[in-house]
Amino acid sequence: MLSYRHAFHAGNFADVLKHVVLLESLNYLTQKDKPVWYADTHAGGGGYALNSQQAQKNAEFANGIGRLWGVLDMSDTPESVVRYLKQVAHFNHQNQTDSLSYYPGSPWLAQALLRPQDRLSLFELHTQENQTLQQTIALGGRDRRVKVFEQDGFQGLIAQLPPKERRGLVLIDPSYEVKTDYDRVVDVLLQAHKRFATGTYLLWYPVVDRQRIHQLEKALRASGMRNISLYELGLSDDTSGRGMTASGMLVINPPWTLASTMQQALPWLVKQLAPETGFYRAETLVEE
Ligand code: SAM
Repeated sequence: MLSYRHAFHAGNFADVLKHVVLLESLNYLTQKDKPVWYADTHAGGGGYALNSQQAQKNAEFANGIGRLWGVLDMSDTPESVVRYLKQVAHFNHQNQTDSLSYYPGSPWLAQALLRPQDRLSLFELHTQENQTLQQTIALGGRDRRVKVFEQDGFQGLIAQLPPKERRGLVLIDPSYEVKTDYDRVVDVLLQAHKRFATGTYLLWYPVVDRQRIHQLEKALRASGMRNISLYELGLSDDTSGRGMTASGMLVINPPWTLASTMQQALPWLVKQLAPETGFYRAETLVEE
């Protein structure tokens, strides 16, 4: 039984970091004409109304996208953040509004950047979210680039590797509702990497209990995989298990532009989202 629904969290500070990294990586991969395969192991519903009861419950978006909306004119806004804000604005326009009323999910953002020659595999176990994806992203089968699977994303990913394109980006974005996910993600990354070593993998993690993240980093350092970067954005210091205070992206085979992009974006994001108490990390976990 899945109880996690992303609508409660859509557009929060964790989504901001995740989606800036996602867009930057997709932007890099789509510079060449060669086809790209995108896989989203935990796709969610693809888009969210911010006036829904769920989104309004804790209004998490107010401390994320809500703090960035409207800064498009600022000349010091990093290019990667401008690209992200333009996509959020585009999603709202698509929904017939100029205000911040909707927030796009990762499948929509990927679909927006990908080209006719590219493919998307979206995995989502929740039946209702899955149906939404089928309708709003796959367009009931009319967007033939998109395949939606009501299947465990970890297993589904491995079964589809290596992609025929031999160029791909994989977003692994579990809710960590099940605590075994912290171990499972390392296992899955290792299996995936064995089958498709040149793929780019983006793994999202929440900082709720810092010890778990230390263990995750340690396991990846010892995994034998190379070329791993870490980008983290925190609103406040670590606490002991009283909610998410920071979140991060672990990136295997990052686009070479990502490090400098994030060095620019992260301090700016901290200044906007939590100028007094925020922090960031931008590190190479394992060299190339
Ligand atoms: N990637 C989305 C985005 O950035 O917009 C958010 C995804 S949300 C954090 C996680 C999603 O994974 C939820 O919609 C949940 O129903 C789904 N889920 C949970 N366990 C899953 C599994 N084993 N396989 C596929 N989807 C799963």
